[in-house]
Amino acid sequence: MRIVKVEQIKETVKQAVRAANTQLPEDILDGLQKACAKETVPRARRLLEILLENAHLAQIENMPLCQDTGLVTIQIQLGQEVSLTGGDLYEAIDQGVREGYLEGYFRASMVKDPLERVNTGDNTPAVVHLEMTPGDQVVITVFPKGAGSENMGRTAMLKPADGWPGVRRFIIETVKIANANPCPPIIVGVGLGGNMEKACLLAKKALLRPINRSHADSRIADLEAQLLQDINQLGIGPQGLGGDTTALAVNMEVFPTHIASLPVAVSLNCHSTRRAVVTI
Ligand code: SF4
Repeated sequence: MRIVKVEQIKETVKQAVRAANTQLPEDILDGLQKACAKETVPRARRLLEILLENAHLAQIENMPLCQDTGLVTIQIQLGQEVSLTGGDLYEAIDQGVREGYLEGYFRASMVKDPLERVNTGDNTPAVVHLEMTPGDQVVITVFPKGAGSENMGRTAMLKPADGWPGVRRFIIETVKIANANPCPPIIVGVGLGGNMEKACLLAKKALLRPINRSHADSRIADLEAQLLQDINQLGIGPQGLGGDTTALAVNMEVFPTHIASLPVAVSLNCHSTRRAVVTI
């Protein structure tokens, strides 16, 4: 059994929230650069250049990529051969978020109660998803996500007879309704199958996959590519001002489902798609 102190997890989360908020992941930067190179609408191309400049400045100035430094979702993949010691895992994660946000001077965006809406002051609590994995490693993924894109997510329990045409219609409709709100160019995360909550979790998991990596199953990878083409033909464009680049990628995750169900969830992420992955 490998011993890991929760203090180490706290420290890792603290560093990772700082990094995630200031450094755009390589695959997103690369996606923006490629989109910029092939964008045919001059205004859209200029907007993509500005987004790249923003990412560059955030990195060299150690400043947040966006004023909305988001709600922090943390995925912990915990090896079965790891024993966590020294305190409560969830408290350690929140302490890491707290210290990272306060020291980074990032905006605190969490309210204690959804109706009374008093700010917690330190961007806690994080939303934590814990997954047991084989082995003795702990993989921590930090995923701060702004509300502009988060608020445009949708889920539906379709009928099995709706099939792929119904699923496709729902995904495209979601992007159309969202329009400029999620700050395009967007990443489209799709969760297909399972039950209602599983589909939502799959959509979020899909957003964690680097955008230069298609689904391992070529049938799903083809559907992702088709959807990306369809979405980019909508012409919404960067920041909703028109252009060829509405989305940089469609990532889809699938899971078995009930004979009478066809759940689908769509989670959109903005051009400021932030994530940091650290293995302990
Ligand atoms: S959707 Fe993204 S880019 Fe737009 S304001 Fe929110 S965090 Fe910032």
